[in-house]
Amino acid sequence: MLKRRQDYQPPAFLVISVFITIDIKDDATDVTTKLAVRRNPDAAADTPLWLDGQNIELTRLAIDSVELPIGQDMPDGVDVSDHGLSVAGLADEAVVEVQSRCYPQDNTALEGLYLSGGMYCTQCEPEGFRRIGYFPDRPDVMSVFTVRIEASTAFPQILSNGNLIETGAVGADRHFAVWHDPHPKPSYLFAIVVGDLDCVTSPYVTASGRAVDLKIYVEKGNAELTAHAMDSLIRSMRWDEQEYGLEYDLDLFQIVAVSHFNMGAMENKGLNIFNSKFVLADTATATDDDLHRVESIVAHEYFHNWTGNRVTCRDWFQLTLKEGLTVFRDQCFSADMHDAGVQRANDVALLRAAQFPEDRGPTAHPIRPETYKEINNFYTATVYEKGAEVIRMLAGFLGKDGFRKGMDLYFARHDGHAVTCDDFLAAMADANNVNLDGFQGWYQQAGTPQLRVRRHAGDDVSQLLLSLSQQIPDTAAQTPRNALPISLRLAFLDQQGKIVPTRLATDAAAQDEHVILLTEEHLEQRIYAPQAANLTPSILRNFSAPVVVDDDLSPDERRHIMRYDTDLFNRWDSAQTLVSDEILAIAADPQAAVNSDRIAALADGVSHILDDPNCLDYFKAAIVTLPAISVLESRMKPADPVALFNARLAFEAALAQQLHGHYQAALDPKKSAQLADTAGGRALLNRLLALAVAAGDAQADERAMAHVLDSNMTVSQGALAAVNNRPTVVRESVLSAFHDRWQDNALVLEKWFSFESMSCISGRIERLQELMQHPAFDPKNPNKLRVVLGAFMSGNPVRFYAEDGSGFEFIAGCLIDIDKRNPQLAARMALPLTRIGAYSEQRQQQMRTVLKTVQAAAQSNDLSEVIDKALV
Ligand SMILES: [Zn+2]
Repeated sequence: MLKRRQDYQPPAFLVISVFITIDIKDDATDVTTKLAVRRNPDAAADTPLWLDGQNIELTRLAIDSVELPIGQDMPDGVDVSDHGLSVAGLADEAVVEVQSRCYPQDNTALEGLYLSGGMYCTQCEPEGFRRIGYFPDRPDVMSVFTVRIEASTAFPQILSNGNLIETGAVGADRHFAVWHDPHPKPSYLFAIVVGDLDCVTSPYVTASGRAVDLKIYVEKGNAELTAHAMDSLIRSMRWDEQEYGLEYDLDLFQIVAVSHFNMGAMENKGLNIFNSKFVLADTATATDDDLHRVESIVAHEYFHNWTGNRVTCRDWFQLTLKEGLTVFRDQCFSADMHDAGVQRANDVALLRAAQFPEDRGPTAHPIRPETYKEINNFYTATVYEKGAEVIRMLAGFLGKDGFRKGMDLYFARHDGHAVTCDDFLAAMADANNVNLDGFQGWYQQAGTPQLRVRRHAGDDVSQLLLSLSQQIPDTAAQTPRNALPISLRLAFLDQQGKIVPTRLATDAAAQDEHVILLTEEHLEQRIYAPQAANLTPSILRNFSAPVVVDDDLSPDERRHIMRYDTDLFNRWDSAQTLVSDEILAIAADPQAAVNSDRIAALADGVSHILDDPNCLDYFKAAIVTLPAISVLESRMKPADPVALFNARLAFEAALAQQLHGHYQAALDPKKSAQLADTAGGRALLNRLLALAVAAGDAQADERAMAHVLDSNMTVSQGALAAVNNRPTVVRESVLSAFHDRWQDNALVLEKWFSFESMSCISGRIERLQELMQHPAFDPKNPNKLRVVLGAFMSGNPVRFYAEDGSGFEFIAGCLIDIDKRNPQLAARMALPLTRIGAYSEQRQQQMRTVLKTVQAAAQSNDLSEVIDKALV
């Protein structure tokens, strides 16, 4: 059923408190929810109480301690369906007790209560609680939870939200624990974990001096892999105190790592549950990028304690209220912990690779969607990453202090409540006494705006006329296409590469940088400076708005920006544009010779950066990292991912020839060892090795073989990346050396799986089938499916988009199978197959044919919704 944002109705009853008992036995789990309910004065009178319940069996019902018959003899006014329980005629205050049964051991959807690696755990966001017990499973019903969990003593740990208030034995071989969470919360933040786990603890004292116990629970034997996650947690807690004055509010904060998990992690109040991949990490088993990801996910989930948990969403259409804001907060945290410019480049690279394609495809939606069938399908890059960009623009517009004032007012007004994106904007506007109505458009409209920038001569050389216009593209979402407020940061460089102060008509004095808010479709902006007409503009500095820029800069001017701009993001972005231009030229005419003059000019600019002692190694590595295929696709019509992939390989080889002198560092053991000392150095070392392999350098093979055996995982994985798509003789040896070294470590072996699947050389369909028979492959574990099938779709365009359609057919078969076990995952994995419109007639035809097969076989709402949208 299609749900609409406009149809929101407040709940008929509020749940003042709930007492839950969960009795876990091998064959079944019995759950009782005892709710103290009160009629909601904001709802229509006489509306029945509605309790969601799905895939659970109703076994008992009592109202105000009176037992009611269930089944055939159910009294009038009580109705049970597959979706829940409705009770009419209740008094304004009542106690409703509902008992039900569920089967976690058979739950492969990984929503609700399920077994993972021998431990019981839960995932309730967005609508998983209804698979555990009967409850108004909607975020605007916030309640005080107490839970009593009973299980076998084979599971020593019984965990839930809040504080542990009682434990005890039940007979010889069972025990129980009672947890109470004093903070009212919606059911989606409820969690339990029952298992036999190792625990690592650390003390923490908040800014105001309150002691908190931090605990990380992991499967037996993994305790030594938690130090980085713990350290990240402590730094996150400190950062939130310093930046926003926000302290943790319970005596205990727990993180549990589980191996079967659909998402990255979940911010349940006081009991975060993590995909083990984002907890367990040290430098021997995880790359520097993995370690960064652990840090940023730990921070993200912790930050939700205030932006999400204390103030939550009124309904799921408001998801970006908590996600966009919290992604923005975790991005700022990461920028503070590391190099801000490189962090910004990484965030934007992700936005362009994952969110921009969403805007172009059949599932396009605004950051706050207007309709959905299955909310699981809206945990998207649009809601998260674009949502964060919108918050960033607001923060940029209000300034650091203004944004903080807005946040303070947001918490002062809404702490303990479930609110909307409008409430957030209102707090920001009221705290700063400004009108932010224009920003509403960013919440209402889908699509990536195009910002066109053209230069025209002014009256004389001291003037430059900038003509700015925005265009909102048509999307599958069919949302309005009004002009949006677009924040444009702008500066100008002279011929020596120095930033020149310039003046707008409205400025009293000249400034190094301007922030122009473009609110109309078109704006003419006059720029004044002694040599204004001869300056090079640095446009959209630090990516000040989530738009695509169409400017009139020449390749020379881009190289100038790349070399001299003080804005690191724009230096990186100019390099990306120049590289993309070359790759696209090769893809357009693969027969033609690579233009060595242009590549030499580009290599010259790159060399300048590689030689610059003032540039960080991380930045140097980013400069020689090539754009993703999905980013390149946006500039080719129809997009040919196979041609683009091959062109990117050809370009890399040609560039590498020109950087011969630079990649030598990766071939010299002594210089390599020096680089390998720091994270930035390792990133650069890996890129240089890849260039050496791409150039066909004879020594590179030997170095790749040595690197794969390095004790540092970043260096080791760098060897895999360098050889994976190159027909070098050592490719197979490098991959099997990695496999043999890590075959007993399931988490590390996931890396090997993904490289095998992504390789245009080995990643044939038959190879994928073999991988899925590998002893370390588990079809019920989403991580394993992602590293084989997900990696194949995103990283192996040559095989996925194969001319004969075999890649599409193979994935379609897998999706049908996955949908039977885990609909949420199937729907997410189907997305690349649904982005039909970008490709050639022949590919579109092939994609439609296999999608129809999937559509006919799809069993879930999740999968049907995304396929139906693609086949419209
Ligand atoms: Zn989140």
